[in-house]
Amino acid sequence: MTDASGLDLVIRGDRVLLEGAFVAAEVGVRGGVIVRVVHSGTDAVPASVLESPAARTIALARDEVLIPGLVDAHVHVNEPGRTEWEGFATATRAAAAGGVTTIVDMPLNSIPPTTTVSALDVKRRAAERQVFVDVGFWGGVVPGNLADLEPLVEAGVFGFKCFLAPSGVDEFPPVTADEMEQAMAVLAGARDSLLAVHAEDAALIAGAPHPHSADYADFLASRPREAEGAAISAVIVRAAHTGVRAHVLHLSSADALDRLAAAKRHGVRLTVETCPHYLTLCAEDVPAGATDYKCCPPIRGAANRDALWQGLEVGVIDLIVSDHSPAPAELKHAGGGDFAEAWGGIASLQLGLPLVWTEARRRGIRLEQVVEWMSAAPARRVGLTSKGRIAEGAAADLVVFAPDEAFTVDAAALEHRHPITPYDGRELVGVVRATYLAGVAVDRTTPRGRLLRRPAPTEETA
Ligand code: ZN
Repeated sequence: MTDASGLDLVIRGDRVLLEGAFVAAEVGVRGGVIVRVVHSGTDAVPASVLESPAARTIALARDEVLIPGLVDAHVHVNEPGRTEWEGFATATRAAAAGGVTTIVDMPLNSIPPTTTVSALDVKRRAAERQVFVDVGFWGGVVPGNLADLEPLVEAGVFGFKCFLAPSGVDEFPPVTADEMEQAMAVLAGARDSLLAVHAEDAALIAGAPHPHSADYADFLASRPREAEGAAISAVIVRAAHTGVRAHVLHLSSADALDRLAAAKRHGVRLTVETCPHYLTLCAEDVPAGATDYKCCPPIRGAANRDALWQGLEVGVIDLIVSDHSPAPAELKHAGGGDFAEAWGGIASLQLGLPLVWTEARRRGIRLEQVVEWMSAAPARRVGLTSKGRIAEGAAADLVVFAPDEAFTVDAAALEHRHPITPYDGRELVGVVRATYLAGVAVDRTTPRGRLLRRPAPTEETA
């Protein structure tokens, strides 16, 4: 009999994800932390390996698995300043409903943008006491704020974001490649922080045609692959010069995979993310005027989508995050179907896991791998060492998931603020049955999330 005194919660099941494999196990939780993990062998889980009079015991149903909560490191909450677009309460309810137990909020679309410590303080105050999952923050790099970067690192941001092309909001201007390199040089020496880059080249975007059009092909031509390629090359070269940890945000163009692979082989400290929309949607299927599908960089063709999946499978792309970026209907549908007028951004925070899982399963990819891409890998990259795994000492952020249960997306039933998503009506598999944050089931009424600061870096951060 294992000593299980004082456990608050025990979850047992036939399929618990431990070290990359589903095994029968029991997980014991105390004080929000996983304190005991017991393999139960291959047969039915014997009763009471972890027996504790005080503990609440949950036995998973036959169709359920237990996975670590997802870590979505790319979310635009927009509060304060554009709270009518999205806010901490609605975004984090959506996260919890989708099995995401930690989000890291992007520095822009909120006003003020998170480019100074005082702006970070404003944002933290706005988030306090209304978050249903744990929330960390990115800082922003904009022209002229080099002196603010180290103080933001000390204040606990998980890394920084910059744009190499206009961001869509005036208060968060892009930087030049030289300005990006200056920031990289500062961040390389600032607790080995991380610079994440929206990699589209401003000049190539400006030089492309931008007609008013309801035809998705016209929008696609306005954000050419070459613009991503050129900007990614700049990130690689400047990251190699400075030795910074760099991260390519929302990779859309598979043309860049070869140069990303080469950079990684040569030791550039680089990671790459992509998003559910690039992996599950394709340009050929976007209806005329359907601006719910507009995002930057854009969703490209079906062959490109296949190549992105291959990029994940060979490890050139490291992780999958939502880039949840909602807006109200009057902006998302501005121009009545004109892709040049509509706000670019896709809302998918609650749907990421079933979207990616549905498509992965069709392609013969296992759920264990999906969870690696959506939980463990993002947690590692931003230095959330206690998240992204079920193991003794890790946070008891756990998701009960029914991987074979089908459902139809109903935009109006999603938790984020506006019932707009390109996935409305889509048939998916994989239902989140329960989400535990620090060992407590998340409900829709009690916000128990915490505001996180980046822990001191360890050797693990590569
Ligand atoms: Zn974004």
